[in-house]
Amino acid sequence: MAISDSLQATKTRLDAACVAAGRAPGAVGLLPVTKTFPADAVREAFAAGARAFGENYVQEGLAKIDALADLRPQIAWHLIGPLQSNKTRPVAEQFDWVHSVDRLKVAQRLSEQRPAHLPDLQVCLQVNISGEASKSGALPEEVPALAQAVAALPRLHLRGLMAVPEPGPGARAQHDAMAALFQQLQSQGLALDTLSLGMSADLEDAVAAGSTLVRVGSAIFGART
Ligand SMILES: *Cc1c(COP(=O)(O)O)cnc(C)c1O
Repeated sequence: MAISDSLQATKTRLDAACVAAGRAPGAVGLLPVTKTFPADAVREAFAAGARAFGENYVQEGLAKIDALADLRPQIAWHLIGPLQSNKTRPVAEQFDWVHSVDRLKVAQRLSEQRPAHLPDLQVCLQVNISGEASKSGALPEEVPALAQAVAALPRLHLRGLMAVPEPGPGARAQHDAMAALFQQLQSQGLALDTLSLGMSADLEDAVAAGSTLVRVGSAIFGART
């Protein structure tokens, strides 16, 4: 299937998920995830109307940002993969969003390194909602204090939370727990608008729980090799 067709099919699927959940079609944003796919695939999705893209790996993302420099002003680049504190500088300088902030040190470095002439870096805190030792993300109980600290940093704009729930029978409970944590932070006075939750396989469950942004790779670009 051409990328333009699978992008349209995914939008249709997302709208249907919104309606099934009693939400307005268009209520949930779609972030195409281009990790492992070449810059030409990004161009195709751009030609089909996509204007924001998610990348997992810092070096791969930077190479694509460079290869697509002609489109740069029109694209918002989101880093959605793990970020080590020694790799923050190029991210602060090149990306528009980071979904994977999971500790204060990384946020502080992004804040210090974000160039003053650029708009604030938009950030989400990644939450290890499954509690698996192998997963990145802050533990849920750490998130309220981390959110308050990150929200106070200059040149960052805390937008919300991100998670990658563990697939399987417990997934729905993890989606609901993310939505509850998101609402808890809002009720503590943080003006958050982004719950980055849902991928190709769990988009419907994430939308039902209250996701505002789904990150979709394989359903649009095909299987990764
Ligand atoms: C790869 C990835 C996605 C997209 O996954 P698909 O299953 O291909 O839709 C979304 N979010 C993160 C953090 C990822 O690593």
